[in-house]
Amino acid sequence: MHEYGIAYDIVETARRAAVDHHARSISKVCVDVGEISMINPEQVEFLFKTIVEDEPLFAGVELVCTVIHPETRCECGYVGNEIYVCPKCGALPAIEKGKEIVVTNIEIEAGEE
Ligand SMILES: [Zn+2]
Repeated sequence: MHEYGIAYDIVETARRAAVDHHARSISKVCVDVGEISMINPEQVEFLFKTIVEDEPLFAGVELVCTVIHPETRCECGYVGNEIYVCPKCGALPAIEKGKEIVVTNIEIEAGEE
């Protein structure tokens, strides 16, 4: 169910961009999906398509999800992708990357004035 909210946010973000640019339609939306966001990209894609199904603005739209691998940093100086235990000191590293869902690019078809 979490995925529905994410898909909905992506639709709204794309819609806002399209309206801001007086676009006729949206052709492509690119999203970075953090590997540890616990989000299933296929599910998001499916829900995204379902939400925009009857909207001409989104006719033929493509959603491209890129999975982002985690990147962590520890107080001891460790930088890598261990998310639970720092291999150098055993502490819990801070997650710098790989948790978030971010719309990175929206391709639109310009409308005629
Ligand atoms: Zn450490």
